[in-house]
Amino acid sequence: MNEPIIKFDNVVKRFGDITVLDSLNFQVQKGEKVTIIGPSGSGKSTVLRILMTLEAINEGIIHVAGKPLWHEYKDDRLVPASEGHLREMRKEMGMVFQQFNLFPHMTVRRNVTEAPVQVLGLSKAEANQRAEEYLDLVGLSDQADKFPRQLSGGQQQRVGIARALAMRPNIMLFDEPTSSLDPELVGEVLTVIQRLAEEHDLTMLLVTHEMQFAKQISDRVCFFDKGKIVEEGPPEILYTSPKEERTREFLKNFI
Ligand code: ADP
Ligand code: MG
Repeated sequence: MNEPIIKFDNVVKRFGDITVLDSLNFQVQKGEKVTIIGPSGSGKSTVLRILMTLEAINEGIIHVAGKPLWHEYKDDRLVPASEGHLREMRKEMGMVFQQFNLFPHMTVRRNVTEAPVQVLGLSKAEANQRAEEYLDLVGLSDQADKFPRQLSGGQQQRVGIARALAMRPNIMLFDEPTSSLDPELVGEVLTVIQRLAEEHDLTMLLVTHEMQFAKQISDRVCFFDKGKIVEEGPPEILYTSPKEERTREFLKNFI
C-alpha cells in the first residue's frame, strides 16, 4: 500500500477535562474519498479542524503528505511546528464549513481571489482567472459581482467550495456542508461535491449525515463515537452488515 496522504498516530485532543480524540489512529490514502459519520459531539469536526490547523493536538503525531503537521524537524529533532511550517502545511488542504464562513463585505469574486492573492502571491489578473474557472465549475459564473447576502444558502456554499478549490489543495475537507441548508437547496451542493469526487483525483474527507450521498461517493465510511473509530468499511458493507452494536444503533436512525 502507498504512503497515506493523511495519517493520525495515537492522536489525543482534549478540551479542558474532556478527551475529544482518544488516541485516534486514522489514515486516508491519496485520492481516497472518506466519509466520517457519527453522533453529535463525537469529535468529527475536531478531526477536520486539527487538519486545517485550527486546533492543536495534545499528544501523538499527524502526517500530511509525508510531513509532520503539528511538528517539524529542526536539526533532525521533532519539535512543535512554527507558524511558518503550519502556513506551508495549510496549503495542502481546503475546507468547506457548515456555516459557509464567507467574507460578508467582499463580492463573490473577491471571496475566491483573496487567499490566492494574499497567501499564494498570485497577481490580481491570475487570481481573477482562477476565480472564473472555479465559479464556472460550481455553476456561479454569473454571480461573481454579488455579495454573499444576495445569494441563497446553496449558492453561498458553492462559493465556499470554489473558494477552497481556488487554492488548488490536494485534500478537500467538508464539514457537514449541507447541514445548514433548506432541504430544497441540499441537492445543488451535493451535485457539485459529487462531480468533484468523480472527476478529480482530489483526496476528500467529508463529514455528513447524508447517508445515501455518502454511499454514492465514498470509498470508505468511518463511524466515530467518543473520539474513536468504532468501525469502518466500504459503505455497502458498513450500512448493511455493521458488526458493532453502536454502529447499528446509529445507522437505524437514518436507513
Ligand atoms: P462533532 O463534530 O462530532 O459534533 P466536535 O468535534 O465538534 O464534535 O466536538 C467534540 C467535543 O468537543 C464536544 O463535546 C464539543 O463540545 C467539544 N468541543 C469542540 N470544540 C471545543 C472548544 N473549542 N472548546 C471546548 N470544547 C470543545
Ligand atoms: Mg461537527
